[in-house]
Amino acid sequence: MKHANAAIFVPHAGCPNRCSFCDQKAITAQEKLPHAADVERVCMQVLSELPDTTEAEIAFFGGSFTAVPEAYQTELLTAAQPFLGKGKFRGIRISTRPDYIDAGILQRLAGYGVTAIELGAQSMSDTVLAANERGHTAEAVRQASRLIRENGFSLGLQIMLGLYKSSIADERHTLEEVLLIRPDTLRIYPVVILKGTLLGELFLSGAYQPFSFEEMIALTAEMLLACQKNGICVIKCGLHASRSVEENCLGGSYHPAFRELCESRMFRSQMAEALGAEKPVRCTFAVHPSCISRAVGQKRANLQFFREQGIAVRIAGNAEIPPFQCKLAEKEMDVCI
Ligand code: SF4
Repeated sequence: MKHANAAIFVPHAGCPNRCSFCDQKAITAQEKLPHAADVERVCMQVLSELPDTTEAEIAFFGGSFTAVPEAYQTELLTAAQPFLGKGKFRGIRISTRPDYIDAGILQRLAGYGVTAIELGAQSMSDTVLAANERGHTAEAVRQASRLIRENGFSLGLQIMLGLYKSSIADERHTLEEVLLIRPDTLRIYPVVILKGTLLGELFLSGAYQPFSFEEMIALTAEMLLACQKNGICVIKCGLHASRSVEENCLGGSYHPAFRELCESRMFRSQMAEALGAEKPVRCTFAVHPSCISRAVGQKRANLQFFREQGIAVRIAGNAEIPPFQCKLAEKEMDVCI
């Protein structure tokens, strides 16, 4: 279920290095570091606008929260305290790096009402992590995830597809590891190459060739389907649409409707799987009514895909089918006389 958060961006603060893809200023469109007054203002504004905040959290996103000086963390967390509890926000969500998590840090965060921690994992290949100057290993992701879980926090992971020196096989390996870790939430970001980053330099010099848009859609759709089958909630897929990113984008897979395109592809894969080797002349797939346009695809792309194979596909709404699943409801085979 979607819910609004009081989101406070802490751009670039505390990061020990600059990752190859990162330009937090372009991503958050904000250069100034927030302080206690900003936390109070955002919380009050969201509380006044939301009719029901039962599911809402105060979210510190953008940088590496636990890597900023402790006094600054304390300032922000303290400012959030009056806004926690019944009729207000249910907890605090932070995002950080895997190498800035240990038992002491988790104990301190719990004391301030932090309930969910998202780790920027990006890849589970040490080669890819090193090539993109992440400054941590895949083992750090495994260890931090375990600690977060053991200490009762909700665990989120973020991965980035198509980084420098990554292959489709590397991405599938990352997915396998993510499925083993079983985070409560996952964010999937296709790489977007921004000006002023190492990736940007590598791309412009010709040393780095990102996955094609088609490869990225197919790969992400495969991941969404695997997460659905394994009960992992993908809360974000693609960078949010923003003028700042559009102005700074050199290449990669940026599309304002990226998730929708991937979900449509996911439906296509499920339909193809349900048909197997069969090639009926006509068939009907039932999907949840909220998913009809996704199943049809942008510009009816999925129907066109099957039409090119001689199959006329119809999509019908059925409220009994869970969202993002489909069922082969009818098929009509060609009769040879
Ligand atoms: S740790 Fe996160 S915020 Fe810091 S440089 Fe890397 S991607 Fe950017």
